[in-house]
Amino acid sequence: MSSLLLFCRGCGKQVASSQTRDGICVDCQVRRSVADLRDEHARLWRKRERYRTQNANVEQIGRQIARVEDRIAMRVRELVPNEREAVEHLRRELEAARGQRYDIKSV
Ligand SMILES: [Zn+2]
Repeated sequence: MSSLLLFCRGCGKQVASSQTRDGICVDCQVRRSVADLRDEHARLWRKRERYRTQNANVEQIGRQIARVEDRIAMRVRELVPNEREAVEHLRRELEAARGQRYDIKSV
């Protein structure tokens, strides 16, 4: 199958048309679909840090964070049928989510 190249409407990257949906590349689709979960993840992560400084029990929050990460994984799998690529996307999204707290703290 021949595939056309076009520019993603989200990030402007050149991608094969077969890799896009509504003119948006897979990276952007994933990023958009998990945006709310990433915010939720960041909120829980901050909460855990706060609890930890108070020596409170953080086990439950840890479980909540794990659940949010599971939901991120589910959404990534819906968008990326290829298992290997899905894992790669998930790794990137989780790294970004876990890194978000540093952005927030440094402001
Ligand atoms: Zn894009």
